[in-house]
Amino acid sequence: MKKIICLALGAAVLFGGLGLSGCAKPRATRAQYAIRAEYSAETESLAAEMTVSVPNTSKVSLGELKFQLWANAYREGAKYKPVSELYAHSAYYYGSSYGEIEIRGITGAESFEICGEDENILAVKLASPLAPGKSAEISLTFETEIPRINHRMGVTRNTVNLANFYPALCYLAEDGYREYVYPPAGDPFVSETADYEIELTVPSDYTAVCGFSAEESEQDGKRTYHVCEKGVRDVAFVLGKNFTVHKQNAAGAEISYYSYADSAPEETLKCAAESLAFYAEKFSDYIFDTYAVVETDFVYGGMEYPAMSLVSSNLRQSERPAVVAHETAHQWWYSAVGSNQFECAWQDEGLAEYSTALFFEAHPDYGVTYSDFVGESERSYRAYFSIYSQTKGGANTAMNRPLTQFSGDYEYRNIAYDKGVILFDRVRETIGEKRFYAALKKYAETYRGEIATPEQLIGCFSKTGSKIAPVFLSFLEGKCVI
Ligand SMILES: [Zn+2]
Repeated sequence: MKKIICLALGAAVLFGGLGLSGCAKPRATRAQYAIRAEYSAETESLAAEMTVSVPNTSKVSLGELKFQLWANAYREGAKYKPVSELYAHSAYYYGSSYGEIEIRGITGAESFEICGEDENILAVKLASPLAPGKSAEISLTFETEIPRINHRMGVTRNTVNLANFYPALCYLAEDGYREYVYPPAGDPFVSETADYEIELTVPSDYTAVCGFSAEESEQDGKRTYHVCEKGVRDVAFVLGKNFTVHKQNAAGAEISYYSYADSAPEETLKCAAESLAFYAEKFSDYIFDTYAVVETDFVYGGMEYPAMSLVSSNLRQSERPAVVAHETAHQWWYSAVGSNQFECAWQDEGLAEYSTALFFEAHPDYGVTYSDFVGESERSYRAYFSIYSQTKGGANTAMNRPLTQFSGDYEYRNIAYDKGVILFDRVRETIGEKRFYAALKKYAETYRGEIATPEQLIGCFSKTGSKIAPVFLSFLEGKCVI
């Protein structure tokens, strides 16, 4: 279904006060977002204005700008649902609940339409084509209805998770935009780094956490957070009323842990600090001066954002270190070094999971040995292979495939995470620990701020002088026997 909507007049007046000049000077090759949003606890929705400056970094002229409307995956009748049947019951704690984003008006363009395979794309037609190297600026107003769900964007019993609430630029390749749907397995978000200026207003009984430091002001029972951050892939918030905060410094950053159900918050904070310091030493410097871990009601174990990780309030104490160490590793493999998470999920998930094994190897006090961790991945992967071979006449073990080509959470977990761990274990076994760490350091430093391809990752390992590419390819193409 396509909805064609005429431009709303008068939005320019609305945007009189919302500019892109409040923060330090931006870089011309990055998009710049200025978002002013207010969360209403009564209506469980977010009303917002956004101005975005978009550079054409492709090699083709652009007749329209395209944005992902991730929030529309939560709407009634969505083709792709953000959670599978397996998780639906624990996610939708309140029963059925829906959310969506409504674009109220746009200025600076000719027209716009909601389109894409699953009403997941906002296409904004420009008055004249945007040549490569040039930038266009548009402003829009939107309202996002937040569903009651323990998910990335959801009102939960204890918190409000505000991720993916705004139209986010589609990934722009050399030959034009890519459009991604929101399948239940995996993180479909592929975003280049951008400069953000966000003003979020919430009822003053909420604390809003976003990982970055924010200026706060209070007026008429509302608190406003002003965040300026350059060169980040995304900004998300978690709102809560009953957070206890614990802080510690590590890796040159202030680490904060916001919790409400964790019975041993000092332990969780210690794990966040130790893992951040370990990765900073082994991979490359941590790129921000703050990092927040936030406990929230969340259907999965955790979720990563730049400078912030969510951890589920449902976790058992024994499960927390692995989740915290995994999500913290995403500060390198996702936040600093991006990859196409939709087409090649193993690249950041496999690395984040394997980094967890490395962290446990260096920190025996957590009681998980490296061989236990890798062995568990092998057992899980072999069980998956056996089950799929017997019940489905064969298992597709290729790792390079889009999220839409996974049969569900189970296959996704075993291919992107477990087979990813086995791959990096075999690579380290083949080239030795010294070269392995040298390759990861090179990857982290060379592709910081970029979206790296699998070939670029493999290239970093090949440059250590090892003939390792065939090992990667046999895993990625599903040709090796494990
Ligand atoms: Zn992950």
